[in-house]
Amino acid sequence: MMIPRVGLGTDVHPIEAGRPCWLLGLLFDGADGCSGHSDGDVAVHALCDALLSAAGLGDLGTVFGVDQPQWRGVTGAQMLAHVRGLLAEADYTVGNATVQVIANRPKVGPRRQEAQRVLSELLGAPVSVSATTTDGLGLTGRGEGMAAIATALVVAGSASVPNNPE
Ligand code: MG
Repeated sequence: MMIPRVGLGTDVHPIEAGRPCWLLGLLFDGADGCSGHSDGDVAVHALCDALLSAAGLGDLGTVFGVDQPQWRGVTGAQMLAHVRGLLAEADYTVGNATVQVIANRPKVGPRRQEAQRVLSELLGAPVSVSATTTDGLGLTGRGEGMAAIATALVVAGSASVPNNPE
């Protein structure tokens, strides 16, 4: 029997006034985005970390380290595609993933379904999106930054098919 493997990812970035707001693989108008080596998409970063940890393939810093100039300005879509490829190479199938954004802005709710569709297509597996605030407390509550937490479930073996009679 194939035992599924669970993974966990977390990310936090400071918000930078005037920076495009990339979050959950989407561009949000009217909100400031996060600074960073990449496009600052904390949700995608947490998701990638969860996927890598589920497969035992290290973490975001190992794969997209700031010491690796080829990843400068990398988009969330490019990161997810690369991580998806790494898991496939290591013969892992993604069962599903979840990501929760913790931030005052942007408001995720109105675009939650769109984000789920985009992320699920990029990953080739269902991605559930949720969002919350911290009721004004801490760095996200003060609007200084955004945070995200993600989980992922993977199974070894790209050929594993549900309902396989074997
Ligand atoms: Mg990050």
